[in-house]
Formats: sequence, structure tokens, C-alpha cells
Amino acid sequence: MGEFLTSTSSGNPYEILWKKLWNTKVPGKVKICMWKAANNILPTRESLSHKGYTGPLNCLLCSEAVETKSHVLCNCPMAQEAIGAANIPVASVLPGSFKEWFLRQSHHLNKDNWEKLLMLLWALWKNRNIKLWNDTSKNAQEIVVATFTWYAQFLQVQKIQPQNNAAKLGKNWTPPSSHQLKISVDGAFLPSNDIGGIGGVIRRSDGSFLATFLKCVQHVSSPKQVELLAIREGIEFLQQRGLQDACLESDCQVAIQEIEEDFDLNENAN
Ligand SMILES: [Zn+2]
Repeated sequence: MGEFLTSTSSGNPYEILWKKLWNTKVPGKVKICMWKAANNILPTRESLSHKGYTGPLNCLLCSEAVETKSHVLCNCPMAQEAIGAANIPVASVLPGSFKEWFLRQSHHLNKDNWEKLLMLLWALWKNRNIKLWNDTSKNAQEIVVATFTWYAQFLQVQKIQPQNNAAKLGKNWTPPSSHQLKISVDGAFLPSNDIGGIGGVIRRSDGSFLATFLKCVQHVSSPKQVELLAIREGIEFLQQRGLQDACLESDCQVAIQEIEEDFDLNENAN
């Protein structure tokens, strides 16, 4: 299980980053991948070497450097070429850790370029994985074209399914009753790895942000299971903080219905 990244207090420089990442209109798996990268849990060869991996450490794509996440996502010639081809004005040199660099981009880039950057970094990591498992890889131009084509399709689908956006804190977010809190939870499932990411955002009735959480879940087998875990985690999150007067929102109607049916069964049992 991953670790909560909770941002409730002021003074945490990453609070805005998590909030911005969570609210960015990109696919959930892109957000999760970037969250993992920023929190040092992307399984690069370098990070695996601290967990017993003893194989080669060099970059799969260029062989020129140790495969760290900073290298794969920023410094590898492949990454540099792809980011350049996408015309995203990022700093070409990492000033410190990837997390610091990522935070800086979240402040520095406009909305359009920030979304493009998230998509492209995810695509670079995916390309690396394809190289690892299938020993094939795209060139930088192909990565950029394929990524932005997919992103355009994703945005198109979002447009024609506005009811799904409502639950994702878009413009259609509806407030709870006065003085009540609303927690909106969501989950994303990565079938190839049997892992998922769950998260939630708590807002006050005026829509202002109160807290957020993100967590990785392992050994999961379906999107519905991940959504159910997201709901359970959301409820526990509220309970642990003594936040009782809150309503919960999920965009997975099947999961909610199943929970409601569970409640009915419990009542009948009593
Ligand atoms: Zn490289």
C-alpha cells in the first residue's frame, strides 16, 4: 500500500501541486504515474536497485546514463527531443530533484502546456516500458503525435459525457448543504500491473478546498474494485479527522449501488 499524501495545512509547498495535479483534465492513469514519479515510487532501474534488483542500471533507450526517473522523464535524449518537439517551454536542466522540477513546472507552465507536459511524461514512461517488455520503442516524433492524438480523443469523450465530469469537480460540481463538507472520490485502474490509484478531494459548501488524499493500491483486479476502495478510503479519511457532517460523491454508480445494497442487507440482518 502506498502512503497518504495529505495536504491540509498551509506552508506545504506541494499542496498546490497535488491539488493542481488532481484537478488537471488528463486521464487518471496519467495523474497516478506522475504522482508516483514525484513521490519516488516509479520503478526505474535505479530505484529497483535499492530493493534487491541487481541487473544493469543503464537507460534502456540511450544506454548513456543510469536510469533514474529524472533521466527517463527529463534528461534522456529521447525525453529532450520529445519535449522539444512538443514545444513545451520547460527548464531543460533539473535544478534538484524531479519533485522540485515538477513543482516548478506546475507554477511556471500555463494550463495548456502543463496538460501537455503531464501527457508527454506519461508517454515517455510508457515508451520506456514498451522497450523493456517488447524491445521496441517509438521515436520522439511518433511519441508526441500518438500522445496528443490520444489526448484530443480523451477531451472529445469528456465533452460528450458531461455527466461524468460533474463528479470530477469540474464546472458542474454542486455544493452540499450549508456547513456540510463534500468528499469526491475517484479511482483509476491499471490492468497491466494489477495496481490502481485512489484519491479524493474534500471541499466546503462554498467550494473551497480543504484537503486531498492520493494512494496507490496493489493486487486489484477491476475498475469497480478500485472505485469501492476509493469510497472506503474516503469514509475512513473523514472518520480519522472527525469530519462527520459530510456527503460523499463518486462517479461510479455501480459501486455506490453495491454499497447501498450492502447497507440494506445489514439492516435486514439486524
Ligand atoms: Zn536515456
